[in-house]
Amino acid sequence: STQEKTPQICVVGSGPAGFYTAQHLLKAHVDIYEKQPVPFGLVRFGVAPDHPEVKNVINTFTQTAHSGRCAFWGNVEVGRDVTVPELQEAYHAVVLSYGAEDHRALEIPGEELPGVCSARAFVGWYNGLPENQELEPDLSCDTAVILGQGNVALDVARILLTPPEHLERTDITKAALGVLRQSRVKTVWLVGRRGPLQVAFTIKELREMIQLPGARPILDPVDFLGLQDKIKEVPRPRKRLTELLLRTATEKPGPAEAARQASASRAWGLRFFRSPQQVLPSPDGRRAAGVRLAVTRLEGVDEATRAVPTGDMEDLPCGLVLSSIGYKSRPVDPSVPFDSKLGVIPNVEGRVMDVPGLYCSGWVKRGPTGVIATTMTDSFLTGQMLLQDLKAGLLPSGPRPGYAAIQALLSSRGVRPVSFSDWEKLDAEEVARGQGTGKPREKLVDPQEMLRLLGH
Ligand code: FAD
Repeated sequence: STQEKTPQICVVGSGPAGFYTAQHLLKAHVDIYEKQPVPFGLVRFGVAPDHPEVKNVINTFTQTAHSGRCAFWGNVEVGRDVTVPELQEAYHAVVLSYGAEDHRALEIPGEELPGVCSARAFVGWYNGLPENQELEPDLSCDTAVILGQGNVALDVARILLTPPEHLERTDITKAALGVLRQSRVKTVWLVGRRGPLQVAFTIKELREMIQLPGARPILDPVDFLGLQDKIKEVPRPRKRLTELLLRTATEKPGPAEAARQASASRAWGLRFFRSPQQVLPSPDGRRAAGVRLAVTRLEGVDEATRAVPTGDMEDLPCGLVLSSIGYKSRPVDPSVPFDSKLGVIPNVEGRVMDVPGLYCSGWVKRGPTGVIATTMTDSFLTGQMLLQDLKAGLLPSGPRPGYAAIQALLSSRGVRPVSFSDWEKLDAEEVARGQGTGKPREKLVDPQEMLRLLGH
């Protein structure tokens, strides 16, 4: 039968990498396994609630799930509920697209103090990621420090400083909104080891910060000395970004903007050339009360520019420290090669090194950088390699049982997968719960409640 001839492929992870890889493989049958009961990875749990347009990719993913050649199986954690070798046994090919489930540690004293958390956990908290719902960030302080100057850092700063009434009609969780309403945070510093030419955020996110209602930027013109000349040599996107920073730091605002800034009750600033050395404890030693920063200067040129300490130190008082220096992938299964230094699965264009039939895509393939569009391109490439191998007869011949075999294993282990139509019931429930308050949805944040609603 055609069923027997259709290659059986599975994808681990239902973020952009998982769904875009699946989309490229719909000549075959694709099963997507996801550890959360709900799909879409960081599109649901990372992308900021006030950026709803970014989440439109969900429509494309939903089409893929509806294609008839693709099935979604949530609530299945690969490496725990089922192993990679078991998947390899059941399928012609396996694609690992499980993203970056961890964060890079600061590795400085005081990191474990209450009042310090990863930006990853904070983002997960306001976006309804089940494992972060108990975070209880303490926003009773006046100043927050974010260590890092990328887009995630800007997302976090923006959510901390946006007037809560502007978040009311987003899909931010009810609990997070409640805490943000009580927030006393007035100032947010974003600290970077290097200078304005090395920031990792992009212009759209910066512009949003500059225009944030009720908040004014604090930039030190001294950090920008001599930059005017250097800008000429940098590539265009970086040039435009730096020009905007430079203008904001050095030009006198027009009357309207000056009035807006004067009436702003909140502020954010970029602190350049500062490398965190220690989280300082409060006098009773119970919580974070500041960050000790080493002043740095730059050595080397272009890509090789490094921050080296000058020997000077500076203490920045604050009640909340958020580390935003990057996400990190974890190894999923002892049978899968993993480069723990780079935090990726070693691969050549998506083919996992030395393991025929095993592929990878997305952040676990490239490392945790790049937007959804980058992830799409790299996932299509992995899909293409897999199809080439299939055509060249490099994958196992003969029929494979696919989901039927895995379902039996899962059932023997007491695991009940959540299908895409199950997700659509949860989706409808979330939308219904949001309706009364004008939100696009009120996210369900408790996996037990989700399973209960599905009668599992
Ligand atoms: P993920 O999206 O993380 O998906 C991985 C999936 O695998 C998850 O669903 C996870 O639950 C699942 N998984 C993990 N382990 C297992 C396991 N053992 N078994 C089964 N499933 C597993 N890009 C933009 O273009 N615009 C934005 O505005 C934007 N905002 C962002 C904000 C934040 C805070 C972050 C962190 C990223 C943002 N990005 C944005 C980048 C974008 O989210 C990534 O490029 C993209 O999500 C990476 O896709 P991925 O599929 O590799 O990883």
